[in-house]
Amino acid sequence: MPKILIVGAGQSGLQLALSLLEHDGYEVTVMSARTPDEIRAGRVMSTQCMFHAALQHERDHGLNFWEAETVKVEGLGVSIAAPDSSRALDWVGRLDDYAQSVDQRVKMAGWLEKFEERGGKLIIHGVTTSDLNSLAGMYDLVVVAAGKGELVQLFDRIPELSPYTQPQRALSLAYVHGMKPRPEHPDFSAVRFNIIPGVGELFIIPAYTLSGNCEILFFEGIPGGPLDVFTDNPDPQEHLDRILSLMKQYLPWEYDRAGEVELTDSRATLAGGYTPVVRNAVGELPSGHAVLGMADVVVANDPITGQGSNNASKCAASYLDSILAHGDQPFDRQWMKGAFDKYWEYAQHVTIWTNAMLQPPPPHVLEIIGTAGAKPEVARRFANGFQDPSDFQHWLLDPEKAAAYLASV
Ligand SMILES: Cc1cc2nc3c(=O)[nH]c(=O)nc-3n(C[C@H](O)[C@H](O)[C@H](O)COP(=O)(O)OP(=O)(O)OC[C@H]3O[C@@H](n4cnc5c(N)ncnc54)[C@H](O)[C@@H]3O)c2cc1C
Repeated sequence: MPKILIVGAGQSGLQLALSLLEHDGYEVTVMSARTPDEIRAGRVMSTQCMFHAALQHERDHGLNFWEAETVKVEGLGVSIAAPDSSRALDWVGRLDDYAQSVDQRVKMAGWLEKFEERGGKLIIHGVTTSDLNSLAGMYDLVVVAAGKGELVQLFDRIPELSPYTQPQRALSLAYVHGMKPRPEHPDFSAVRFNIIPGVGELFIIPAYTLSGNCEILFFEGIPGGPLDVFTDNPDPQEHLDRILSLMKQYLPWEYDRAGEVELTDSRATLAGGYTPVVRNAVGELPSGHAVLGMADVVVANDPITGQGSNNASKCAASYLDSILAHGDQPFDRQWMKGAFDKYWEYAQHVTIWTNAMLQPPPPHVLEIIGTAGAKPEVARRFANGFQDPSDFQHWLLDPEKAAAYLASV
């Protein structure tokens, strides 16, 4: 019976662990730095909006416990602020299938409890490299799914796939109750992508948290610019007040909805930033054992395109297929590389698109965004690209293909 150790109880680690338990013949251990109660009582970790294909992986394994009560995200809107803070552009594209965002505090705590209930072995322990060094020999396969934590150092950065050496955005967010309904389309919910040229972006994301449905106000600020003002770690209310005051200044139409908001809880704010990176998926331990990196450990993109949890879900589904297809054969380095390469066939498209979105938009992208305001099919294709970003290579990312597409609509 293959013994599998998964380090890290996040989207990818727990999805893989729970889906492996459905199959006879695997002994699955998860090591988590925190207990379910500690996760629930902790700080928010993400905005985690997940689109249809990723949600479907959860449904396939009966893990969509919060689907009925979570607000359905049925569109993706884009606005651009003019220099005088008026709204230069505003449209919404409908998603073919809805997206949802379940606070990772709710989801990971619930999944961790379910993992134990279903017979998985849970060890609460923050794992060090030296722990892994001695543990690895006791398992047939060790998967490191520890997000952006220190264990990433086991995996070498691949420079040719990692164009950035610094964070490209300063991130700050707050989960709030009390936003007024969106006047543009009060009948359905949508993620809103507000662009402030040269300054950054504000995403507003409907979500489900510990206290029910809410909205997340999420600024992505260009480093050193006017939105990069959270490094002093303000207290939660001050954090929210700063977000609101920036909304008032740059995006008054969104501020108008936010007059009565309050934080969902005292741990509902977050600030930070990280460098996008692609790493070698096979990590080498001093003892000579190899470990397989998963999701953010090996492919970490900036959240500007909201793809990390989606990628984590898709990576877990892809690794599950690779594990099952391998049967009783040894999980050696060659198998690990093959498992990653299969996932990368998809993930490369997310990385290329996300890295491009961190740059000022080139003229052909501006033309597409402008045309989407007049042609709903263009808006719809852009919105649905968030559920399968591999489509963008065929039109958005190449000036000639973009021109040909626009001429055809
Ligand atoms: C501000 C922000 C907004 C985001 N918005 C979105 C979005 O809208 N949509 C989207 O799809 N993605 C979004 N993401 C990205 C998404 O949250 C991550 O990409 C995703 O959670 C990665 O999943 P993972 O399984 O790789 O790691 P994680 O979900 O981060 O899980 C890693 C787990 O490992 C644990 N761990 C770490 N080190 C150790 C250790 N040494 N020992 C034991 N356990 C350890 C951690 O505590 C954590 O529980 C956002 C991220 C941020 C920061």
